[in-house]
Amino acid sequence: MALAYSTAELITGTIKSTPTPWFSLLANIEPPALRRKKALARKIERIQNDEELPIHNKIRGRTGSRLISRKPLWLKLNALHDFQPESDWRDASNDTQVTNSHLVNDPNIKPSGHDLDRRTWTQLNRIRTNHGRCNYTLNKWNPAIDPMSDCGEPNQTIYHIVNDCVIRKFEGGIEELNDVTDEAVETWTFSCDYMCDHANECGALKEKIK
Ligand SMILES: [Zn+2]
Repeated sequence: MALAYSTAELITGTIKSTPTPWFSLLANIEPPALRRKKALARKIERIQNDEELPIHNKIRGRTGSRLISRKPLWLKLNALHDFQPESDWRDASNDTQVTNSHLVNDPNIKPSGHDLDRRTWTQLNRIRTNHGRCNYTLNKWNPAIDPMSDCGEPNQTIYHIVNDCVIRKFEGGIEELNDVTDEAVETWTFSCDYMCDHANECGALKEKIK
């Protein structure tokens, strides 16, 4: 499980505090529980279709459990009868209660921006998840860093940068960034100093507005 999350973290460029439901949504990899269920469904289908397999007759018509295995394969047959991975994942995604999860309509489709360069893709995902290297987060990692935005807002969160910051906010908001419009990618991500990995030192925009 930990390996799956660390792989998704690497693919999406998100930071460690990102809520885990986001990993599968952004990496376009089904959650571990769904992948296990798919693997089981494949195995059962093969057993049911191949009469030559010794286990084929053993599970047909079997009911109840027995002491050696309290969770025998045949008890899961009914649960897998109408199994549809795509709609299961869509339903699970709709039930997800993490910030901005409404941005993902269908997790079976790769999120916009997956073909962008690594830096922009990474920053885009950090904005989508509301977890990025803004001053508010940096302050949590190192209390010596001031969480204040240079516009005067006491906490420079990702939400503040995108929606409220008088220096950096993006008029199109999180929805337009999520859709990866030309305005979002070609204008904002290349002019906003937050989009640099070294936002605090860079000051690219501060130079621009002088
Ligand atoms: Zn600000």
